[in-house]
Order: sequence, then C-alpha cells, then structure tokens
Amino acid sequence: MISNSQNRIVSYLRIFWKNDQPYGQIFDQETDRVTSVDLITHSLTYQVISPIKRICVNYDSKSENRTLDSCEKLVIKGRKCGACNRRDNIYAAQFHNVHTREPEITSAEILKRMERPNILYIAGFFDGSIKVGTSASVRVQTRLLEQGAIYANLVAETPDGISVRILEDLITEKLGIGQAISTRKKIDGLLNPLKLDALREIVNAASIEVERCISSAKSEESTKIDCNWENEHAYEGCWANIKKYPNSLSAGSHDVKVASVIGKVAALDHSSGMTLVADLDEILGLAVELGEFGGDQLSVQEKLF
Ligand SMILES: [Zn+2]
Repeated sequence: MISNSQNRIVSYLRIFWKNDQPYGQIFDQETDRVTSVDLITHSLTYQVISPIKRICVNYDSKSENRTLDSCEKLVIKGRKCGACNRRDNIYAAQFHNVHTREPEITSAEILKRMERPNILYIAGFFDGSIKVGTSASVRVQTRLLEQGAIYANLVAETPDGISVRILEDLITEKLGIGQAISTRKKIDGLLNPLKLDALREIVNAASIEVERCISSAKSEESTKIDCNWENEHAYEGCWANIKKYPNSLSAGSHDVKVASVIGKVAALDHSSGMTLVADLDEILGLAVELGEFGGDQLSVQEKLF
C-alpha cells in the first residue's frame, strides 16, 4: 500500500437528503472542518488507511456550543464516540418508546418534538417487502428517501407523534407488517427488482388492510389521507443492469464514481464500464486517504438468474 503524505485524509460522516438530492458530510483531518458534497458524480477514489482509524459520525466542527457538545471525535469501537453513544442510546430509547411510557420520564425535548403532525405510511422495496413507518408530516418525503423506499402510500395523519406510534404498533401487531427492512433485502431488490406495477399492487393492497385496521380501531386521533409517493431515483438508467460491488468499501482501495443513491445504497460507475451497487454505510466514519489509487481488482459475478 503506497501512501502519499500530501494526500488529504478524510472521513465520510453521514449521508443526508436536501431537496430530494443526496449529499455527503465529510470531515477533513487537516483542517478539522466538516463540509458537504453533492454525492451525484462524486468520485470515491480512496484507500482505507491502516491501522484503521474512525471519527465519530456525530462529529460536527461547526457546533456552536462546544461546551455542551461532548463529542469526543475519536472512536474506539463502532461508529460513535463513547459520549455520543451514551447520549444517543438514551434519546433513541425515549424516542421510540415515547408512546408506551409515562410522560414524566420522557425528556421535555422529546415531548416537544412529539407535538407536531405525523404521517403513517406503508413503504415498499424492490424485493417486494413492505414496512409500516411514521414521520413528522413536514419531512415525510425526506424520511422515505433516507430509507431507500421505492414506492409508498401515505395512509393516515395524526396531530402528534404519540398517537401515530400507537397506530404503527397496532398495524404491526394486527397485520404482521414490520417496522424495518434490512439493507441486504434492499440491495437484493435493487439487483433483482420487481416490476414497479407489481410493487405498487403489493403496497396498495397492504394499505387497504391498514386503513381497515385503523378505522376498526376507531382512532379519533387520525385522519385518513390517500396519497402515494415514488422514489424518482429508482427510475435512473444506471440501476437497470447493475451488479453487486464485490469488495467492501471499508477495506482496500477504490476508484468509482457515484451515479445514483437510493437510501444509503449507491450505484457506482467503474472504469470498466460496469455499474455496481454498494452500501455507502460501510465507509461512514472510516479515515480514508483520497488520491489516485486505481482501486483494487474486482471480480464481479454475473447474476445467477
Ligand atoms: Zn461523538
């Protein structure tokens, strides 16, 4: 592994969506700054530095209140530093269980966040799997993009975040519709996608059941909505004849360009002319050296069917 000390060492910290487009947040080791890049056509030309070094994915150099921001920046294990892990675990537990706990033991910050309209949706993925989910109404499109949904029905709206979670649990309990889809299933779907019409049919049929379930529960808190959403990125030509990127983005060297992103999964253009699918999540937090590396050799398997 040849290293050039002139090269920038960076860490991709997170992927986020703005105006329906994917961006990456990048930490630069030399300047200690975090900046954003448009991911479409972004070159991922890097090698993972060894020994492995990780930056906390929560690190934000622009954080205004440094005394309150306890982020330790360096990570010993996992994706986040110890302080961020502890804080986020408490927050996530309260956030996800807010509807099943006494309000007195939930933080004021979370209760405040619950005081806004929420939408319950059914989202479909290209392998045919579906999930039920909730989002603050104002950011439901962004939420669907973050998750890499392909087609979704927005089924009901509630005035707050607590009643929507009660409905979500009801749907899971009564209809057996889960609340999460694994990345492996999302990638399997992108490699062997259902026809969009077939996926629409699956989501629409489930949504009818969901509506029935909600109306029989006589929830006074929810209003029926009937609105569907499609992920525009799923129609981009680069996904049409895609194969799996055979190497892990978290090791070795890589030379590809981002053609499209669905959730955290990217279609990557390779110099051989192939377009390959990989999980960008693999790279998040890792310290990598940017430079002309050419990329490790790829041994791409043809589709089995
Ligand atoms: Zn941290």
